Amino acid sequence: MPADFAPGGRLPPLTDRAGRQYRYLRLSVTDRCNMACVYCMPPEGEAEHALRRDVLSFEQIARLTGVFSQMGIRRVRFTGGEPLIRKHVVDLLAQVHAQSTLDALWLTTNGVRLANLAEPLKAAGLTGVNVSIDSLDPDRFRRLTRGAELAPVLAGINAASAAGLQVKLNTVALRGENEDELGALVDFAWEIGAIPRFIELMPLGEGAALLASHHLPTSAVLARIGARVLPEAGTRDPAAGPAHYYMAADGSGNKVGIIGAISDKFCENCNRIRLTSRGEILACIASRSAMPLKDLMERGQSDAELAWAVHVALQSKRAGHEFELSSGQQHGRGMSLVGG
Ligand code: SAM
Ligand code: SF4
Repeated sequence: MPADFAPGGRLPPLTDRAGRQYRYLRLSVTDRCNMACVYCMPPEGEAEHALRRDVLSFEQIARLTGVFSQMGIRRVRFTGGEPLIRKHVVDLLAQVHAQSTLDALWLTTNGVRLANLAEPLKAAGLTGVNVSIDSLDPDRFRRLTRGAELAPVLAGINAASAAGLQVKLNTVALRGENEDELGALVDFAWEIGAIPRFIELMPLGEGAALLASHHLPTSAVLARIGARVLPEAGTRDPAAGPAHYYMAADGSGNKVGIIGAISDKFCENCNRIRLTSRGEILACIASRSAMPLKDLMERGQSDAELAWAVHVALQSKRAGHEFELSSGQQHGRGMSLVGG
């Protein structure tokens, strides 16, 4: 281990061979979910859930986020699976908030349990939520989520706004499915003061099999949104991740985010690293190999040794993912396991 990582010393910032600096940690708090979206989970749910003893404990999560924040991580996002089904998730968030010096703490959720949790989450230190909503039509919503109801999700979105959380709405844009609703989803988000974001379908999990039939490139998403936004290429906020933001044409200051994993490969500016619920570091969303940080912690390694292990994991990261080479073939793991 080089001198930079000396025990008790200041940990060096997280960088990789391509010179990318990492400031954003996506933390999966569970691989379980209370939905089974068609592009994410198999109909019967994920086959192999981690056993309880294999999942990071609250203390381990708080320790690791502390180490990461010493290495320059400024934003953490709780995700999953569905993060709001982890028992006592509000306490976990409060613990992470108290033990690190982050600029922002966000959470991505399907919204089903948000109505009851929005206020306690805000009180625990949450900055904002991304709520996934692929349709405003209850029947289509049910079909895309394999049986979930839309009403609790809408109630969750309202509760998040009422609690003073920043709200972003995530929609996976799907050809032949919700593409006729993209404009209505923008209008809906703007009406409630939220930022709509459209995600390009990726060949991860069940998405691989749907790519040929349902992939909608970002140019088609923009065409569907039409004159609501200015046509100039959107700005990208490097602190906030890979979305390109397009400004509303009416001068209201509203915006639309577009995340084009394939059409607009974002790897050059990647500033994120992923920690799975089993405590493995994934350097990239498409990584197959992972660094088992939980094992290292349980073998008694120091903070400096954990930091070195994260550094080593990042050095194997490629310059870019290879989704575009895909032909119905799955890359890496499903989003519910990766921590989408
Ligand atoms: N359960 C939470 C939710 O749905 O918001 C958090 C985890 S989910 C894996 C995070 C995001 O990944 C969701 O917005 C979902 O739509 C997106 N996602 C899942 N599989 C995807 C795929 N194959 N391609 C693109 N986005 C995907
Ligand atoms: Fe669950 Fe989120 Fe995957 Fe849907 S996208 S199945 S809500 S983890």
